[in-house]
Amino acid sequence: MSIDVEPDCIFCKIVAGELPSDQLYEDDEILVFRDIRAQAPLHGIIIPKTHIATLDDLRDDQAPLMGRFFTIARDLAAAHDLPGYRVVINTNSEGGQVVFHVHMHLLGGRQMLGALG
Ligand code: AMP
Ligand code: ZN
Repeated sequence: MSIDVEPDCIFCKIVAGELPSDQLYEDDEILVFRDIRAQAPLHGIIIPKTHIATLDDLRDDQAPLMGRFFTIARDLAAAHDLPGYRVVINTNSEGGQVVFHVHMHLLGGRQMLGALG
């Protein structure tokens, strides 16, 4: 798999090892690390190693790559004995996205609250 890199992207820098991260999972195409401002006891950020800015930029042929986010989230939740968890993909500024390298939040380890937005 080819990996696109965006020089100014902080998540690309984490993939390249230029910025530190507290890693939870890695394979050849996906990396998971702890959110630096964790909002739950387990707050993982699941990213593709290749730079995709937002969900809007996902190509149809990259659907299997994003599909793997869900099985990795499921396995991490099981590995951390989470009885429940939440996954979120903020998309574009109005969707609450701050880092423009597509990512899925995995939140767990406490009761999730009702408000999603
Ligand atoms: P979003 O609002 O969906 O774009 O979320 C971006 C998330 O990335 C936020 O929860 C930040 O706390 C997190 N974040 C930003 N920089 C880093 C970093 N260097 N390491 C880990 N998490 C980060
Ligand atoms: Zn990037």
